[in-house]
Formats: sequence, structure tokens, C-alpha cells
Amino acid sequence: MDAREKVLNDLYKRCGFEFDESELSPKNRSKIGQLAENFAKMVALESEIKSIEGKTSRSLAAALLFLMIGGSLICAGVGGIGIFLLLISGLIWRRFFSAGKKLKSLRNQIDLMCKKQEEDCEQLSKEIYNELSEVYEQKVRPKITHFKIDFAAILQATKGKRAILESIECPFCSARLTLPTSGDSVKCEACGKTVLATDVFEEVKELIGLKSNVGR
Ligand SMILES: [Zn+2]
Repeated sequence: MDAREKVLNDLYKRCGFEFDESELSPKNRSKIGQLAENFAKMVALESEIKSIEGKTSRSLAAALLFLMIGGSLICAGVGGIGIFLLLISGLIWRRFFSAGKKLKSLRNQIDLMCKKQEEDCEQLSKEIYNELSEVYEQKVRPKITHFKIDFAAILQATKGKRAILESIECPFCSARLTLPTSGDSVKCEACGKTVLATDVFEEVKELIGLKSNVGR
């Protein structure tokens, strides 16, 4: 996955929907490009840090080795070579410490970049969300192409508003009628007439936010 895809995936998650870059304004498209560039820089920095870390651990091992051998040689009376090895060890230590300083500054740098990237992504996702809110509405509310009207479907569609819908008025005699949980018709116990789920649906569809598009 390249940097741009990574950034896009991050934005999809923050927005709560996927979008096509062609839907965006040129301004936001170029911001995505900028974020992808920054992301690639962060990845490069990260691998630089990893490689320095590898080198420093190797030079630490080498410095210790030279120190030990140099020390033993001095103890064994081979002073010349021993001191020479200690000097090399010292040089490696010096390099080790300066690499440590560099590592620290690179880590600080990458922390700052991460923070900024996080803020920029959050900001851009808000802008994209606003820009695409209309498209978004369609995406999160897919068109219902098929809706079988029975009482189970009505109860499902009115979830959260059920208190209003647990009972209805019989259209023929105005008696209170408890909504069944299944089937597509119910017999009124008061007048004996049959009330259809489709009739009930006609009454409640505005309430549940389904208007002209459904019920045909
Ligand atoms: Zn009735």
C-alpha cells in the first residue's frame, strides 16, 4: 500500500465513509497529496532511525569487545597493543554517543511530525465530511428497493419509536388494537374486521421517515 492509499484509508475511517478523490475539490485533493508526502517522509525517517539503532548496537558490542581484549592484554603485560585497542574502543564509544544524540533528535522530529499529521488528517477529514455531506447522506442511507410490508417489518422500521406504535386505533371501530409482531394482517377483536399491515404502514410511514420513495 503506498502512502497516498494509507492516507486515504485513514480519512475514510475518520469520515465514516469511503469516497472517490474525484468527488473532492482540488484544494482538498492537493491536501491529500501533501499528507501523503509527509507520510512518506515519516516512513523514511523511521527507517533511518532503525538503521542507526542497528549500527549503534553493533558499535556498542565492538567497543565492549575492544575494551575487554585491550584490558586483558594490558593485564597480560602486552601494554602497547592493549593501549591501542583501548583507544579504538574509546573512539567507538564516542561515535556511539554522538549517534545516540542524533537518534534522540530524529525521534523528537518524528514525534512532532506524527502529531502534526494526526491533526492535519483530522482537520482534512472534517473538511471532506462537510464537502461530501450530501453524497454521504446517500451513502449511509441506501435506497430501499424492496420492503415487504408486514408487522415485523413495521416494528423493525419503527425501532426506537415503538412506544407510539405498540397499539393503534382500529380504522373501522376506533378500538385499541395491539400490533402483532408478525404476519401481514390482524383481526380487530372489537368489530371483527381485518386490518392490513399495509394500511398501518400508510399511517406510520411519515412517522418513521419514509415518504414518497417507498410504498409504491
Ligand atoms: Zn375494529
